[in-house]
Amino acid sequence: MKFSLDIKGTIAPFSAVGKLFEHPKTICYPSEKKAEVEGYRGFHTNLLATCIGCANCQDVCMNDAIDMITIEDEQNPKNGSACIPRIDYGRCCWCSLCTDVYPPNSLKLESESIWANANSNNFLYMPKDR
Ligand code: SF4
Ligand code: SF4
Repeated sequence: MKFSLDIKGTIAPFSAVGKLFEHPKTICYPSEKKAEVEGYRGFHTNLLATCIGCANCQDVCMNDAIDMITIEDEQNPKNGSACIPRIDYGRCCWCSLCTDVYPPNSLKLESESIWANANSNNFLYMPKDR
């Protein structure tokens, strides 16, 4: 029986020691967060002072991710329906069509995007001013 030593295979695991001195490729979330990227599509915000409850955002949403919900504390006298949009983040694909419809400057997307919750009802999100 011939014995052969696999030098390369024996030494290879020790190369992992060098990784201990490399700068980590990951971040220590949540104490450390990723830098914001301009134009990133995160959560919706809705400037209630300009939202007129027209439901154009609901009509344009091809994923049926928007329901119009009646609110008690109406902040805009021009909101005739007294309704504002609620987003279902189980359906939204962040296409941003709802932020492009008229009237502008009400519904927007902000860069904040991280949300974890065990209750699926908590993914029905009522965007308000931020
Ligand atoms: S967010 Fe904009 S499109 Fe949607 S109901 Fe309000 S004003 Fe209309
Ligand atoms: S971003 Fe797109 S999918 Fe999400 S609510 Fe707006 S229109 Fe619907």
